[in-house]
Amino acid sequence: KLTEALSDPVQISDVSVPISASIGIALSPEDGKTVTELLRNADLALYKAKNDGRDQSCLFEKSMGEAASKRLQLEVDLRHATQKGQFKLFFQPLVDSETRNTVGFETLLRWDHPDYGLVSPDDFIDLAEQSGMITTIGEWVIREALQEAACWVNKERISINLSPIQINNASLVPTVVNALATSGVAAERLELEITESVLLDGSDETLKTLHDLRALGVRISLDDFGTGYSSLSYLSSFPFDKIKIDKSFVQSIENNAECRAIVRAVAGLAGTLGIRSTAEGVETGEQIDSVLAEGCTELQGFYFARPEPAEILEASGLLERDLSNRSRTEKDETHVTTNETFTDTFKRSAKQG
Ligand code: C2E
Ligand code: CA
Ligand code: CA
Repeated sequence: KLTEALSDPVQISDVSVPISASIGIALSPEDGKTVTELLRNADLALYKAKNDGRDQSCLFEKSMGEAASKRLQLEVDLRHATQKGQFKLFFQPLVDSETRNTVGFETLLRWDHPDYGLVSPDDFIDLAEQSGMITTIGEWVIREALQEAACWVNKERISINLSPIQINNASLVPTVVNALATSGVAAERLELEITESVLLDGSDETLKTLHDLRALGVRISLDDFGTGYSSLSYLSSFPFDKIKIDKSFVQSIENNAECRAIVRAVAGLAGTLGIRSTAEGVETGEQIDSVLAEGCTELQGFYFARPEPAEILEASGLLERDLSNRSRTEKDETHVTTNETFTDTFKRSAKQG
């Protein structure tokens, strides 16, 4: 009855605004005997209701408590990770289609967890975003990656992935400016990779941030193209410097005519716009032949190299480094510093969900 009653649009001036409500329910005494316990469990049910698509109600179940405590443990571990310097940067070469020279490296974050070993970003970026830690982690990535790129003798480009949350944070542009200045890396060498989800809200602030970054000389790439809404309007709303074609299309290019057509269309579009197109996730010579035939100008994938720490790339001859270029002040700074306590994070994540 409540969700129904709340589902009528609200009239504000001459605009009719649709509204909806999500409801989490905990019952006494089975779901809790104290107010705190009941509210916490109702909150967990609310979180589920929102996750299931909003505009509905959801009853608390015991399993929600277990999932939440697992998540909380991981969140504690993640906070420790930022304090104990458990993050490592890996780098993967980007190869020019014509010359087959390495023209850049993409920075890929790893969490060296004491129990689980190397954890992939797919398994912790979401949590870092939800718990508000992504900004701190992302700033560390920017500083550290640029310090590393300062040592590259052949001055290859350095790509860094950005979370949508980082773009909407006022500290992003100053962080980039400072990291470029401290490291001495030319802005033209830095490429920031964003996904279309950044542009979903269509806000002026987002575009302003992107334009501010570009005004510094930094390049902006559109990552994972083809997987989201892939709206062509995104390509006209901002002058991207590169489109990265998602590996799912590249890996099916030989046996799936639709995938091939998509790679052809996107590479063609990039060519017409006068920007580069990167085929991600190339693993075989046949895939390379195919993406080259469709006009991709850059290649990235296990065929050339897996993401590795810079030392390993150096040892295998894929990267030439001069460590004397690493600035003294940052050299020993191996961990993220933050003023936020675990309690702050806990409070915020409790509030959010
Ligand atoms: P992405 O930006 O699309 O990065 C490419 C992913 O494809 C990487 O996964 C890379 O290891 C993998 N890959 C590269 N070549 C091949 C290949 O030939 N075959 C296959 N099967 N995979 C290949 P990874 O390192 O696990 O990263 C996953 C995602 O996590 C990235 O996808 C990116 O969206 C995100 N990510 C990584 N580092 C950061 C970071 O510092 N900040 C943020 N916000 N996100 C990050
Ligand atoms: Ca990327
Ligand atoms: Ca990608």
